[in-house]
Amino acid sequence: MPIRRPLIAGNWKMNGRLADGAWVEHFRGALTASGTDILVCPPATLLHHFATLLPGDAIALGGQDCSPEPDGAHTGDISAGMLKDVGCSHVIVGHSERRDGHGESSELVRRKAGAALREGLVPIICIGEQLEDREAGRAIETVLAQLAGSVPEAGADELVIAYEPVWAIGTGRSAGPEEAQEMHAAIRAAWPGDDREGLRILYGGSVKPENAQALLACPDIDGALVGGASLDPHVFARLVNLS
Ligand code: PGA
Repeated sequence: MPIRRPLIAGNWKMNGRLADGAWVEHFRGALTASGTDILVCPPATLLHHFATLLPGDAIALGGQDCSPEPDGAHTGDISAGMLKDVGCSHVIVGHSERRDGHGESSELVRRKAGAALREGLVPIICIGEQLEDREAGRAIETVLAQLAGSVPEAGADELVIAYEPVWAIGTGRSAGPEEAQEMHAAIRAAWPGDDREGLRILYGGSVKPENAQALLACPDIDGALVGGASLDPHVFARLVNLS
């Protein structure tokens, strides 16, 4: 038994319509893996629909973001409690598309992760460097600064980290296994919680069946956060089956 059970999470981003409910049936039909935790994060508009379709015990449901605030006057936002209410067990926070596209700071991400923990959700905190940071030789220091700023002290051992180099997201260019392993080992070594060996660290950024096996074989890579390749149920199932 590995110390950490692998987790493969699909992040649909701003994709999907009600008609895509058939994804669940196709995915389940193609799934042969057991022993891997599976999570699907469709857009908020599909969460309720997916909650009725997914076998909750085998495939978990997650949100893609949450408010740092509890319910109240925050037009357009979704609270962690609402995600819990609709059947989510997880929520992604701090994705680079929110850090960069919506100006989210690590401090805000830390508050969002705290809000998720208070509602009993597992936050998946995303961190990752830009291409210029890697080229300038400061990838590790950048990522560790994001880690230190984004993790709430209380409940640190109940969350998941996703290392997603920004230059690898949606570009088709994944980090190589050695590059990714080096970063994952650095994150684990710097982990502020008590259970360093139990921490699950996912890799994300152009993960597909063709590169998943080499990445997942690395000792500190405990699963994947998958964007584009999670939209096709057969491709996502192939990927999960490799884990
Ligand atoms: P990608 O996205 O797999 O399409 O690169 C990963 C992510 O952003 O979580």
